[in-house]
Amino acid sequence: MFDVVIIGAGPAGASAALFTAKAGKKTVVIDNDKSVTKRAWLENHYGVAEISGPDLVEVGKKQASKFGAELVHATVTNVSKGESGFKVETDQGEFEAKHVIVATGMMADLAEMVGLTTKAGTEPRVKTILDVDAAGKTNIEGIWAAGTIAGVSMHTIITAGDGAKVAINVISEINGERYVDHDMIKS
Ligand SMILES: Cc1cc2nc3c(=O)[nH]c(=O)nc-3n(C[C@H](O)[C@H](O)[C@H](O)COP(=O)(O)OP(=O)(O)OC[C@H]3O[C@@H](n4cnc5c(N)ncnc54)[C@H](O)[C@@H]3O)c2cc1C
Repeated sequence: MFDVVIIGAGPAGASAALFTAKAGKKTVVIDNDKSVTKRAWLENHYGVAEISGPDLVEVGKKQASKFGAELVHATVTNVSKGESGFKVETDQGEFEAKHVIVATGMMADLAEMVGLTTKAGTEPRVKTILDVDAAGKTNIEGIWAAGTIAGVSMHTIITAGDGAKVAINVISEINGERYVDHDMIKS
């Protein structure tokens, strides 16, 4: 049983996984390698002078796995609520988790199939998004959403930031108190 299953390893999903894994939460990220970010050339990602989308996505995955997040290359086909958590079905097997973070970018098909409330997108070229509250919670308790699919502005610094925000909310809910992840320069 994982603490968190994250669907999507683009900037939103991998950023969320970095935080949940670094907080010691048993994390798996499931991704089928169709990130739109792979077509981007980035010169507006704060703190990084310039980087290609594919490189940003790879660095993000490495950061998450450095802290123990498992990365699985598969397509999620269904998410259903079970007794003790959620069953996440993929074309490469099943996973169980207490919490699920949906970070599927512009792809809303799975979310609609699972019964998550959707609405029309408000960002250019984004057709459908999930109806989430300010914390990133969907209409199904325990399923959260982050990044493009949660309706934020479609920019890597924002989708990655939203992934981090939602992860901190999930960690805080699991811990029962607000979570902070600060490291200091070793003197
Ligand atoms: C051509 C182009 C240029 C861009 N240039 C810039 C730029 O200069 N600056 C900038 O800030 N942003 C730019 N962007 C936008 C940026 O790429 C996106 O905004 C963004 O970061 C999306 O992040 P995300 O994590 O929400 O989605 P994505 O990066 O799309 O990640 C979603 C992931 O979910 C996976 N997934 C979806 N459904 C499933 C499923 N059922 N099972 C398993 N995996 C699934 C996909 O394979 C994908 O890897 C550009 C985008 C494009 C297309």
